[in-house]
Amino acid sequence: MSNLTSPAAVRALLSKYGVRPKKRLGQNFLVNPGVLEKIVAAANLTAADTVVEIGPGIGTLTGRLAEAAGKVVAVEVDPALVALLKETLSRFPNLYLVEGDALKADFNALVAAAGGAFPYKVVANLPYYITTPLLTRLLTGNFRVALLVVMVQKEVALRLVARPGTKEYGAISVLVRFMAEPELVAVVSRGSFFPAPEVDSAVVRLTVRPSAPVTIPDEELFFRVVRAAFAQRRKTLTNALAGSGLGLGRDAWPEVLARAGIDPTRRGETLSLEEFAAVTRSLAAERKE
Ligand code: SAM
Repeated sequence: MSNLTSPAAVRALLSKYGVRPKKRLGQNFLVNPGVLEKIVAAANLTAADTVVEIGPGIGTLTGRLAEAAGKVVAVEVDPALVALLKETLSRFPNLYLVEGDALKADFNALVAAAGGAFPYKVVANLPYYITTPLLTRLLTGNFRVALLVVMVQKEVALRLVARPGTKEYGAISVLVRFMAEPELVAVVSRGSFFPAPEVDSAVVRLTVRPSAPVTIPDEELFFRVVRAAFAQRRKTLTNALAGSGLGLGRDAWPEVLARAGIDPTRRGETLSLEEFAAVTRSLAAERKE
């Protein structure tokens, strides 16, 4: 394979196929070989693994994944890049290339169609504009994923791994910690991409939990409580939850929170995963009464 980890090589390849990087699709191609190896190493791949790659681009990461894993399912939305990849990665019989939108794709069905193994791993240098909806979908959409290694904007990465009480801590931090164990693998400067984006990036590893780390009566209710608590960050928990359409009047909330062992004047951004679970349990009990 031609070495794609230099801007000159990427430029030459794109010009050979008459393709221009599309900003609206987040096409910033990785050109740093050290970062490439860090991503592959973080995924701990063996021949028994099936990997789903979202946005293979010009195939820089795809080729390395196909060398390290048993099967790679790569989903790319840009038909021009799919055409390029069909030629440049034709020597990998274990690559199943799909033209499609990762926000709509049924990854379980694609892995099954490719004859891949379950659960599978997701490895991707994600296009910035779909990061949060895509990760939310991957974590809550009944996909049989064991591990995700994703490159995202650095600010988003800090939110994914954030702890309670920090300014980065938000609804996505709680969701991630409920579904997985998050780790920051590496911070990646914007110069590691061609063309260089306007912000720095980071690689995050999310190891999906085999079972929920806290007891909740209803996942959907739990996510609604978490979203409501962060929707108005500056408000106390009582005020944020009372205004959120969760079906209880303002007067009922201090008691529901007290029963969960939570001071009703606290802000949502200070609550741990276990505390959000306790609020959800207390709310569910109150609604049953
Ligand atoms: N994996 C390549 C790399 O590391 O150099 C390219 C990464 S680039 C940041 C993001 C890729 O995702 C682009 O190839 C882009 O066309 C593709 N993409 C953008 N939106 C997508 C979507 N909705 N579904 C699938 N792929 C998408």
